[in-house]
Amino acid sequence: MRRAALCLLWLAPLALAQSGFRVRIYHLNPPSSLTLTPQPSVHWKTCLKCAELTLGSPLIITVDHGRLRIPGASPAEMMFISGAYQLSGFQHPLLRSSFPLEIRADGQTLRLVLTMPLEEYVAAVLAAESAGPQPAQSLQAMAIAARTFAVRFRGRHSAEGFDFCDTTHCQDFHLSAITPEIRAAVEATEGELLWFQGRPAGTYYHQNCGGETADAADVWPGQRLPYLREHPDPYCVRAAGSKWQSTLDKSQIATALAAAGLRFPARWESFVISSRSPSGRVLELQFAGPQSDQVRTSASSFRFAVDRSLGWNQIRSDWYDLRDSGTQLTFTGRGSGHGVGLCQAGAAEMGREGKRARDILAFYYPGTGLGLTAQGLDWQFEGSERLEIVTTEPREDSAIAPAAESALRWAEQASGLQLDARPRLKIYPSLDVYRNSTGAPGWMAAFTYGSTIRLQPVALLRSRGILDSTLRHEFLHLLVEEHARPGLPLWFREGLVLYLSDPNAAAGRTAGNFDPLAADAALRLPAGRESAEQAYRASRDEIARLVQQNGKAAVLGWLARPAPFLLSRAGAP
Ligand SMILES: [Zn+2]
Ligand SMILES: [Zn+2]
Repeated sequence: MRRAALCLLWLAPLALAQSGFRVRIYHLNPPSSLTLTPQPSVHWKTCLKCAELTLGSPLIITVDHGRLRIPGASPAEMMFISGAYQLSGFQHPLLRSSFPLEIRADGQTLRLVLTMPLEEYVAAVLAAESAGPQPAQSLQAMAIAARTFAVRFRGRHSAEGFDFCDTTHCQDFHLSAITPEIRAAVEATEGELLWFQGRPAGTYYHQNCGGETADAADVWPGQRLPYLREHPDPYCVRAAGSKWQSTLDKSQIATALAAAGLRFPARWESFVISSRSPSGRVLELQFAGPQSDQVRTSASSFRFAVDRSLGWNQIRSDWYDLRDSGTQLTFTGRGSGHGVGLCQAGAAEMGREGKRARDILAFYYPGTGLGLTAQGLDWQFEGSERLEIVTTEPREDSAIAPAAESALRWAEQASGLQLDARPRLKIYPSLDVYRNSTGAPGWMAAFTYGSTIRLQPVALLRSRGILDSTLRHEFLHLLVEEHARPGLPLWFREGLVLYLSDPNAAAGRTAGNFDPLAADAALRLPAGRESAEQAYRASRDEIARLVQQNGKAAVLGWLARPAPFLLSRAGAP
């Protein structure tokens, strides 16, 4: 087999395992025990090179002295899980997922990290951050803001072994609440980012600015960005609901400040507002009382401390007046959130008034540019009878339609299968854009996720002489996935695609001692590129052997009606 072709043609599972965004779930409230319920079966192992096991019934995972306790297995440092599953725990909402999951012991609790594609992450962020019905254009603006934020700040938790937490510290996240409207907004803007001076912008956003956005430097000293300045917002004030009031006991406040580790005098009687920003937001508070030592604290640290301890809606913003009534303090304010960047209430109002996503982003991040690249390229939709072509350079790329259609016909002929779906061919304008917006590494020529084939620039693939083979390979994937019965092992599907791509390729050294369990595991959660390559080669050789023994028609027939050994050997249900 031609090595060059093999290592350039991975599909989604491998792309995901090696390049997905790592999101820690249950970050604020990590569980100490968890029930993992397969839907209907999952695979797991306790180290990257360990043998994979299959789980067909619920498993309760606990933690003890920094090690995972897994019934029927020895204590482990970590656990890798793949397949579709459901998680639940004491005081932890039920979560359904089919993204690879890593569980590690972290003191007396479990640390859970999901690996997911960027666009799936953006959809889950929107599900949490944009609750309630919204105009399509403001949802699209939010999708672009959330995606740009993710690309710019990826790895902000890298010292802890993941990219993002699932709280508003990074972006709030709700995997189980993705609506069709959110999917549509994410898809319509796929890969689009907001740029400033050649770099993805810092696209902060908040719920409601109260009528005037905040300067980033007032909230985070040192963050001086020209597109995050204070300016009036006539839109959110037209929508109701920006005023709020909250009354708190001083003793509750003292407890919250202590829990957050903020410096405050041992004896204080009240607070006074000691400085405000030009918009009127409180910048600093000063403790008052005979022994308060004139200690000051920043309003945002104060708000975070109180909200973390007493609930996130107690002090909704830094824009308020204070009234002291003895044992209590009353806050009367407007807006919700830090006020920096996009105001979601204002964006929704702009959408209702007919503004486009592009206008909304230009209003809240003035001076930035929208596009797939810093040069502002946009997706254009072209099509032929059998497929949709999405590209930034329709003049050049629409010429690929005949080649793509003939690759599709070739794949249908080689497999004897018919494609019912109208696939989408998405062609990226440069290797950088392909890497940034898909998360796929540069050595992966293309990959298929759902019914969309994502492709590196046509000129690049053509110059390497792999354009046609890449297209044929990806169409074979679509055909095999469309016709494969659920539960068929991954090695069978992958091996079949590779075999059909080039039935005459010479067999490798692996023929004869094939281990389906190991191959399936290495394809699903590869320990590295090399072991994945080996597994692809071995799976392909095994298909070649099966074809020699049973005939090609019989092996293809197993897609719809698997031979019994296929459902038992790789541990499928
Ligand atoms: Zn975070
Ligand atoms: Zn606003």
